[in-house]
Amino acid sequence: MGCLFCNIIEKKIPGDIVYEDEHAVAFRDIRPVAPTHVLVVPRKHLAAIHDLTAEDALTVGNLFVVARKLADQLGLTAAGYRLVVNDGDAAGQTVHHIHVHLLGGRNLSWPPG
Ligand code: AMP
Ligand code: ZN
Repeated sequence: MGCLFCNIIEKKIPGDIVYEDEHAVAFRDIRPVAPTHVLVVPRKHLAAIHDLTAEDALTVGNLFVVARKLADQLGLTAAGYRLVVNDGDAAGQTVHHIHVHLLGGRNLSWPPG
């Protein structure tokens, strides 16, 4: 029961965690679509972009700062990488706890599927 990503954050279910701090946790995607595929999530449960308010600005903005640090640590910065947030059904959002996908390690085509 409950939110899958909250359970990973709270270590109730296993996750391949690569980073954590007071506000955010990052772990490897269980079905990677690129050689490096990490999900950066806020500790605070926020379901989706369309629910955000101004109060969430720091929480969500911090995800991008963490993703930038991880991109450096994981050696993605020189070649480039992509950050993705899916919102809602048409975008393919499957987990309703906001997450930034950090994708790198291969050339990424545009537009996305
Ligand atoms: P989205 O489709 O944007 O909601 O992304 C959800 C992501 O969560 C997908 O890329 C899934 O592969 C990933 N995922 C689902 N379950 C797990 C899990 N237990 N551990 C890590 N990643 C997961
Ligand atoms: Zn959650």
